[in-house]
Amino acid sequence: MNKTIISFGAAVLLALGGCSASGQSEGEEQNNSGDASQQEEQAEQENEAEKESEPVFEGEEEQAETTEPKAGEQEQTTTLPSVNEDGVLQNPEALNALVNREYHLPSDYVPEDLTVPDVRFPYEEDVPKKQVREPAAKALESLFSGAEEEGLYLFAVSGYRSYDRQESIFAANAEEDGVEAANQYSAQAGESEHQSGLAMDVSSQSADFTLTNAFGETPEGMWLKENAHEYGFVIRYPEDKTDITGYQYEPWHLRYVGKELAAALHDTNQTLEEYYGTAE
Ligand SMILES: [Zn+2]
Repeated sequence: MNKTIISFGAAVLLALGGCSASGQSEGEEQNNSGDASQQEEQAEQENEAEKESEPVFEGEEEQAETTEPKAGEQEQTTTLPSVNEDGVLQNPEALNALVNREYHLPSDYVPEDLTVPDVRFPYEEDVPKKQVREPAAKALESLFSGAEEEGLYLFAVSGYRSYDRQESIFAANAEEDGVEAANQYSAQAGESEHQSGLAMDVSSQSADFTLTNAFGETPEGMWLKENAHEYGFVIRYPEDKTDITGYQYEPWHLRYVGKELAAALHDTNQTLEEYYGTAE
């Protein structure tokens, strides 16, 4: 796959990664997620550190060739997600899949193990967005329980979103604001982690169940930031990584990657892009 990153380079607007961009609290999300492949879960961070210092965005070209994991040590091998020439992931069901504007989910990809997690939702309707994949559902239930032990009550707002639904959302946003503007806050179909069934947007009563930055400042949001990894989740679009993820800070967007990888990413303060070496 080519590093299409470049194409987005200039245009890399910090888009709302995945979630409610235009106002709505939940419905309109536009994310990216995907599945990539079979990689191990250790990332190396040595080189990362240096790279991070520069908020590069355009500079991507140079390091673009560094498709390989950071020149880490011998044991650490992070295999880049396998994609075809169009950037479509060949192993979309991988739990450690990298899904973003460069690595897309197939248009016909629908996870086979979608299920509604036994957690709190701020609404009653039985809708598809209540679903996530089986492993993510179990982990989410544990995470909610863990928060409860601290007296914190999280609410699941929006999980799975089909390719078609994402397409409609983007089209609606584009119609309203124009394609260029829509691209800044909305993911196009295939580029949303919500299609992977591994993402769930969460909120709290203290944040009025909205998907906003305010959630990040609530006790629930702060607890998530510190503890999500222990349950296999990461805050996919951190506040200090917007230039790397290409998405605005989304304290509400949880992405399941499994405990091992989540811990590695948390401990090394890396995003999936950095982990896979596609960031710079
Ligand atoms: Zn989201």
